[in-house]
Amino acid sequence: MGNIVQSPYGADNNFFHHVTADSDRSVEWELKPQIFDSLLTKSFSPNTNFTLKIVMRMFLSQVPTNWGTDMYLRSVAVSQRRSLDPKARYGYHRDSDNRFAIVKGWTTSEWDEFLFAFDTQAARWDRKFWIIPPDDFNLFDIKSGNSNVRPNIACEFDIAYVGASENPHIKVQVANIHDPNEFFRSHMTLYSSEGRHLGEMASMDPITGLVRSHFNYSTIAHEIGHAIGLPHIGVIRSRPKCKLAVVLNDLSLADKLGPLTAALYKGGSNSNVCYGSMSPNDDAENVMGMGSKFAVENASPWLERLPFHIRTPIDIKKWKISLSEAPPMSLVFK
Ligand SMILES: [Zn+2]
Repeated sequence: MGNIVQSPYGADNNFFHHVTADSDRSVEWELKPQIFDSLLTKSFSPNTNFTLKIVMRMFLSQVPTNWGTDMYLRSVAVSQRRSLDPKARYGYHRDSDNRFAIVKGWTTSEWDEFLFAFDTQAARWDRKFWIIPPDDFNLFDIKSGNSNVRPNIACEFDIAYVGASENPHIKVQVANIHDPNEFFRSHMTLYSSEGRHLGEMASMDPITGLVRSHFNYSTIAHEIGHAIGLPHIGVIRSRPKCKLAVVLNDLSLADKLGPLTAALYKGGSNSNVCYGSMSPNDDAENVMGMGSKFAVENASPWLERLPFHIRTPIDIKKWKISLSEAPPMSLVFK
C-alpha cells in the first residue's frame, strides 16, 4: 500500500495509535488500494469498545468551466433552439465512459447542497462493522471487578476535506450536470452533481430472468467503497459470471457478444454481472453492487488495516465481523 508511517500509542507498547499512508495514487492504484489514514483508539472502560477510524483526506473540487467554451456552447444552443441559463457559465466534460456532457459552473447554494449530500452519504460507511477478536487474543482486556471484559472494535469512517496542496489521499472532481436526464457515469475521482440524489437500480434475477429493483442506491457511498479499496461485489465474492466477464474483457471478446449478453458482460470488472446482475439478490443489494446494504466482506479495509495497529503479529482470518453493534464481552474464567 505504499509508504506507511506508524505513530506509537504513548507509552503503550502493544499498539500503534495513528497509521498514515502515502498519497501517491499515480501508479497501479489497484495494487495498493489501502491509501488512507487510520486511528486506533483504546477503551479504558468496560462498557466501551475500541474504535478503528479510517480517515480519507480528500480534495473535493468543482469541474471548471471557461468563457471560451461557454460562448461556443451558447452559439450551438441557439442554433438548436435549446435554452441555457443566461447567468450560468457552461462547459464540456467527459464522463468515465468518455461521453461528453454539458456542465455548468456551480453556484454557492448548489455546491453547499452537494457537500451536505456528500457528507451524509459518505457517512453510510461509519459504524457499520464491529471487529471481534479471537478467543486467544487478550491485549484489549480490561479488568472489571473480579472479572475481565474484552472490548470489540467499532469501525468508523470520516473524510477530512483538505486543499490540493495538503497531501490529499484522493482528488475528486464534481461535474455540475446541465441536463439531469442525460446519463453521466461517475468513477472514483469524478462525481456528478446528480449523485446528491439516491437512485434506483435494476438487476436481473438469474433464475426467472425478471428485473429486480434496488432503491436508495448511493453513487457516492459506492465510489467511496472503491476509494477505500473495495472492488465490485462480484469480484469480492469471486462470482463465476463476473470472472467470465473479466476474461472476456481481457481477450477483447466482449464486443463479439450479442447485444443482450453484451449488456450483462461488457466492461470486465465493471460489467453488470460484477455489480450483481444475474447473481443471488443479496449481491445486487450490496453497496458494492447496485444497492445500499453492507455485508461482512465490506469490512475488509478496516480488518486489513488492523495488523498495522497491533505490534504483535495477528492472523486477521481469525477475527470476526459483526454487522450490528457488539458490546464488550464479559470473560468468565473457570
Ligand atoms: Zn463501481
